[in-house]
Amino acid sequence: MMYCTKCVLPETFPGIGFDGNGVCNYCRNTPIPTPGEKHEHLVRFEELLERKRGGGGFDCLLAYSGGKDSTYTLMMLTQKYNLKVLAYTFDNGFISEQAKVNIIKMTDTLGATSIFFRPAFPLMRRTFGLAAEKMIYSPKTLDRASSICTTCIGIVKAMILKTALAYGIPLVAYGWSPGQAPIASAVMQTNPRLQRISQRTVRDPLLESGGEELRPFFLTEQDLATDPARWPVNIHPLAFTEYNEEEILKKIEAIGWVKPGDTDPNSTNCLLNALANYIHRKRFSFHPYAWEIAGIVRSGSMDRGEGLDKVCQDEDMTMVRYAADMLGIAVPK
Ligand SMILES: [Zn+2]
Repeated sequence: MMYCTKCVLPETFPGIGFDGNGVCNYCRNTPIPTPGEKHEHLVRFEELLERKRGGGGFDCLLAYSGGKDSTYTLMMLTQKYNLKVLAYTFDNGFISEQAKVNIIKMTDTLGATSIFFRPAFPLMRRTFGLAAEKMIYSPKTLDRASSICTTCIGIVKAMILKTALAYGIPLVAYGWSPGQAPIASAVMQTNPRLQRISQRTVRDPLLESGGEELRPFFLTEQDLATDPARWPVNIHPLAFTEYNEEEILKKIEAIGWVKPGDTDPNSTNCLLNALANYIHRKRFSFHPYAWEIAGIVRSGSMDRGEGLDKVCQDEDMTMVRYAADMLGIAVPK
């Protein structure tokens, strides 16, 4: 397998091409945020916080998986910016027990309110089983995440927006790493028009194959009719702050976060991830985290060697089988 000599994208990645030095077109065409650009976003972000905070309710709704990046984001929002945070955890039935302990411990320590949202497990099992066994999304949707992750994140994003609208929370935060989401979307006003377009990629195919039982997890016409002035601003501050995995772990471990021992190397909260990665690699011959890790390597926040190890490492088959058993499906050959 040939890999880009600069990032970690393999020759099997959709649309990839290499120049004479083995550098991929994504490296050549993806601008790396300059320190000036990062600072500009930080200033915009801090001004936004001043405008939006102190309305009486929660200042910010955080999509909180209990993993390292969202925990670090929670730490920043509460300790550095002193925001009143509602930390929203979507329990897909596969959150590691240690991650659950972390969520309670971290929200207690940082003074945030925690909310666990847990759909009936049989419905989640059926939904993830469907995402595992069938091609329900367009392949383009799956360049940057597995079918299972896309399903889960699609529901999380919709539920987060629904919750922010229902509680009148002006800010919605995510702990996306600099490889997961570009700096251009780091501070972005949401609106019903864009939401209608974006829900076509996950909601529509999911409802079509999974059925009406899944509809309550997405925005209704009534939600979409909410006055655009009440729609929250999306923020993902890790795009414009220093991002270093080791430093992040050090900071959150210092306040009591404990790394789960039962998740795969690319996740610090989810027990379904190993199976999701395994299936994606069988189907597409590239790691579903390749795009994200390539972005982190390109930004200079991770060594290329470490990134390559992550995208080349085989899944732990005990974890793959555990998740497949939970879903009641066979491990694909
Ligand atoms: Zn590259």
